[in-house]
Amino acid sequence: MKDDEKRAPQGLIDSQDRIAQDLACVKCRQNLLSRQLNDDCPACGHPILDSVFGDYLIRQTTASVMRLADAVRVVVYGAAVLGGLIGLAVISAITQGQDFARALDAAFNLLLAGGLIFPLVAIVGVILLRPPRPAAYYKAHYLNPRRLRRWALVLVPLVALAATGTYYNSTVMADLGKVLWVVIPSAVFLRCVERLMCDLPNFKLARLAFGVFVGVLLFGVACFAVMLLRMASRADPDYQGALVAVTLITLVGALALGIVGFNLLLRVGWALTEAAR
Ligand SMILES: [Zn+2]
Repeated sequence: MKDDEKRAPQGLIDSQDRIAQDLACVKCRQNLLSRQLNDDCPACGHPILDSVFGDYLIRQTTASVMRLADAVRVVVYGAAVLGGLIGLAVISAITQGQDFARALDAAFNLLLAGGLIFPLVAIVGVILLRPPRPAAYYKAHYLNPRRLRRWALVLVPLVALAATGTYYNSTVMADLGKVLWVVIPSAVFLRCVERLMCDLPNFKLARLAFGVFVGVLLFGVACFAVMLLRMASRADPDYQGALVAVTLITLVGALALGIVGFNLLLRVGWALTEAAR
């Protein structure tokens, strides 16, 4: 490594060797602002020096940060088109339905149908946001026996559980599968964005990304609740009121989540473009 690459960015450290800007600890992401350069992280004990001279985006080349900004833009366009289509379909379903409960039901179906395509956008985002590494890295990292064995230890019981569940109640398991497919890629993508914003560093956007991540998880729970209430109300009409209420909350929540999430993506894109300058 060249000497000038090891130098901390301008303004990061003041004349008394204190951190003068927001800076995440590389290990635990604690903000190290105003800490002494030679101290250890107050939260995890990792040397602060390591966080200062680590691989931060602010020290990377303009081209690699621009690449990340472009990746976020791809997701923004995908989300805008898909979100717009879902939104229009849901609104038309609500306005055209004669019976409010049935209109809500149709709107939820459309939201879920659109939601099933959304993970593709999120997966593209996750792939694009990954730092480019040689194929040998992936081979060593993902195909090593110890890692595969650990995965098997987690996956085998999960698959067994899913198979048992499918045997006893395949409808519930199919619904659960749908919810997991809608939620997991988006959740992973948001964790990637959060990490990226910690690396920038931009703690405000990192916190917002975490907030949207929690929102996505709650949305998944709400969707599953609607599906369970649908089944319950078919057997017992007393559940109809609860079904209408939870469906309405889920639709409003999805709208709010869409707006906040889209806002997050736009701001992340801007922050990266700004950092690349
Ligand atoms: Zn730490």
